[in-house]
Amino acid sequence: MPLPQITENLPFVKCLQCGIEFKQRGKNQKYCSKECFRVHLIERREKFNEERRLLRQKVQELWGRLEKKGPQAGRASEVFAKEFLQENGFHDVKLLDYFYMCPFDIVAKKDGTYYVFQVTTRTHCEVTRHLALAQDLGLRFFAVFVKPDLSGALLRELTKGYYELTLEEVETLK
Ligand SMILES: [Zn+2]
Repeated sequence: MPLPQITENLPFVKCLQCGIEFKQRGKNQKYCSKECFRVHLIERREKFNEERRLLRQKVQELWGRLEKKGPQAGRASEVFAKEFLQENGFHDVKLLDYFYMCPFDIVAKKDGTYYVFQVTTRTHCEVTRHLALAQDLGLRFFAVFVKPDLSGALLRELTKGYYELTLEEVETLK
């Protein structure tokens, strides 16, 4: 009994990468060669990276940047964060900046429970070790993302080592 010639009926199609017509060896084959498939993957990755870069740039533009850096700017954003937390129902809000090398910027209470906070004027924060400490202490850990022009803030719970504000989140403060 002869082997079925399954490739026999497959059509000629245009390679999505180079445009050359080729006879398909499988129904889902979209590229004429391994090389064209490889180039396609590279171009797709570059496009993805470029889209991500543009998105980050847009987020950054909407969010703004600190005009002046340094301890005073940091202090101003922490004081803003303190008031923001008080307005959002937290009490006993304490800035911990008097405590050298304290891993948290603020501690506050709500309904009798303590919470710890990191304050940042950036659009992302990396908190792996601090989060591990908060978890060991049984404390929920939040980031207060303060807009550099002090026009608003976003409160986000940190449950992973990294948090990055999305465009949608930043747009809520426009
Ligand atoms: Zn090709």
